[in-house]
Amino acid sequence: MRRLFPEESEALLFKTLNYIPIPILLSEALAVEGRRPSTHRIHRFMNHAFVEQLGYNLSEIPNIAAWFDTVYPDPIIREQAMLEWDSVVYESEQQGLSTAGFKTFIRCGTGQFRWFLINAQLTTENQSNLNIVTMRDVHQLQLLLEENERQSKTDLLTGLANRRQIEDVLAAAMAKSDRTQSSLCVVMCDIDFFKNINDNFGHLCGDDVLKIVASQLQHSAQAATCIARWGGEEFLIVLEHVVPESAGVLCEQLRGLIAATDYQSYGQHMQLTMSFGCVQYQANESLQSLLCRVDKALYQAKNGGRNQVVMD
Ligand code: GH3
Ligand code: MG
Ligand code: MG
Repeated sequence: MRRLFPEESEALLFKTLNYIPIPILLSEALAVEGRRPSTHRIHRFMNHAFVEQLGYNLSEIPNIAAWFDTVYPDPIIREQAMLEWDSVVYESEQQGLSTAGFKTFIRCGTGQFRWFLINAQLTTENQSNLNIVTMRDVHQLQLLLEENERQSKTDLLTGLANRRQIEDVLAAAMAKSDRTQSSLCVVMCDIDFFKNINDNFGHLCGDDVLKIVASQLQHSAQAATCIARWGGEEFLIVLEHVVPESAGVLCEQLRGLIAATDYQSYGQHMQLTMSFGCVQYQANESLQSLLCRVDKALYQAKNGGRNQVVMD
């Protein structure tokens, strides 16, 4: 077999990498004493996929400093990205891994910001100082994940938080209240005789009314940490750093607002009332016990004639 000169083998390597449809960058470590290795790297090669997908060529990003300056134009975000990258490299080295990777939001040559997954080789072969860096455009995937995450926490009809989200929020608020001894109140409220709205005006009107009530709660209870659609026509409100007296005042305001509203949908006018139960979280109480108490308070409001607030 014919032996290749180093230059020839390098040219062959570069030529071959151009056929790989994944963006690839070859970066060379410069031995500069007393400096972090990550700050002194020059870029030796970018394959075609890199130039096409990232939109930069070698002369625009000749070294790692130019890379950070170009893809992270905001200096604060750039500093965070450099720190994050250093810590990812450190952790990967500690685990004995030969590559380090992280997902990051960078500016491409088109000016558009996109999510990329960047993987860099940590150890080098045959005393070469070349490290291979691969990039994968995961932008669409990231947006889908974010949208999926958002949808999994949101009630489709009203846009409020759903039960899953408020249970997480409530668990965190309870832990915080235990740590800081700050007051935490929870409100459960339910539209009175809502079935009549559906029966008399149809489900579409019912849906509209639910949307309007959700938006009224959201606008009028801005002190709330979270407002969720708990079930059909039932809502849950988490009030952190709110004492029972203030929670009671808020519930009374909401009750009055809803009773005074002329709801309009599909040319129909409707009147509504709502019943409220409100409790204060007791230190080290379980989620189940808290929800059971607030449900009981609401039940008392219903039994007491509806359109009222019961504080437990
Ligand atoms: P109460 O005062 O005791 O709460 O009486 P209510 O009629 O409000 O309560 P009930 O539990 O008897 O009925 C609730 C109704 O809410 C029944 C159900 O069809 C309706 N509902 C639940 N979810 C939706 C929804 O998403 N859209 C519409 N239009 N109606 C819904
Ligand atoms: Mg009801
Ligand atoms: Mg109900």
